[in-house]
Amino acid sequence: MIHKPAPRLDVDLEKVHHNALTLVDRLRKRGIAVTGVTKSTLGSPEIAKTWLRAGVHGLGDSRIENIERMRGSRILTPMTLIRSPMLSQVDEVVALTNVSFNTEITVIRKLSAAAKKADCIHGVVLMVELGDLREGIMPRLLKKAVREVLGLSNLLFMGIGTNLACRSGVSPNRKNMCELSALANSIDAAFGPIVNTVSGGNSANLDWAFSGTEVGRVNDLRLGEALLLGCEPLHRKIIKGLHTSAITLVAEFIELKNKPSKPWGEIAQNAFGEVVTSRKQGFTNQAILAIGRQDIEPDGLIPPAGIKILAASSDHLIVDVGNYHGMMTVGTEVSFQLNYSALLRAMTSPFIPQIMQRPQMKLLTTKR
Ligand SMILES: *Cc1c(COP(=O)(O)O)cnc(C)c1O
Repeated sequence: MIHKPAPRLDVDLEKVHHNALTLVDRLRKRGIAVTGVTKSTLGSPEIAKTWLRAGVHGLGDSRIENIERMRGSRILTPMTLIRSPMLSQVDEVVALTNVSFNTEITVIRKLSAAAKKADCIHGVVLMVELGDLREGIMPRLLKKAVREVLGLSNLLFMGIGTNLACRSGVSPNRKNMCELSALANSIDAAFGPIVNTVSGGNSANLDWAFSGTEVGRVNDLRLGEALLLGCEPLHRKIIKGLHTSAITLVAEFIELKNKPSKPWGEIAQNAFGEVVTSRKQGFTNQAILAIGRQDIEPDGLIPPAGIKILAASSDHLIVDVGNYHGMMTVGTEVSFQLNYSALLRAMTSPFIPQIMQRPQMKLLTTKR
């Protein structure tokens, strides 16, 4: 038997592949291609390659370091930096990516200079603000920005994009997506047919994309969460036909005891500045898993039925195992499903290796 480390993330690449294939197919029928967003996987080459096999047409990441990791694994597919480049990184950006999302002319000028120096062409997508108030050029200033990009050497204007539902939870809908299409049309009307990419948003756009409404000029969505977790982020509904357990977190018990439910002694703040409010009298089958806030977002873990998360400190996750008490001992493992923030944190914890499970193949560990 192969000894597996704990805690760990079990990544079922068959399920990852199924989720990607399903969404790529459904969106293709709507005229939309999928850019796979790797940022919540720290740029995992295994997951990226699985998505590419399933038909995603390119990869996007917000961190140049993740893109570098994938390039290092000989992934030569088109890559987009989906966060505005830092001025201090323009040379890496033109060297490692084909396209970047941009909102600042200062950065775009530096990208032009860097691309000239490297003797290459760098693609520019201009991000438009449509109400969520994160990144984006205000729509009335978009044409001016396009004109500036067109005037710079070694840049290729690729199109426009927008990002909703991230900072303010503004939902992608017929109205804001029509506005994005109208902006693409007005750029083409002013400069000729130059808008190639119209990137409508992220996993939060799926409800809109499958609603049957006209998708207009939108021909790309950037998907991370939906591919990995099988749910859409607006209402965290499960997407029909997708796996929600492609990635699970496994942790191990280090203590199981029947203890009073109520703490005793003089009560002040706990380690995280919270004052523990009164708990009911009685006893709890309390157990401790060797994982903590350093590795996960406790509110983002979905435990198996019958187990309840009670609290978490830096290195301890305290759960109520209820009637399962007799079936568990120190050393027993528990599997959790994760929401997006728990996934992000777990993927970036140096204490949690990702175990890639391939169908009928031996297990391979990615240690960092
Ligand atoms: C993170 C991110 C995405 C992907 O979001 P998901 O909700 O994981 O699909 C898309 N676009 C941008 C600009 C992002 O930062």
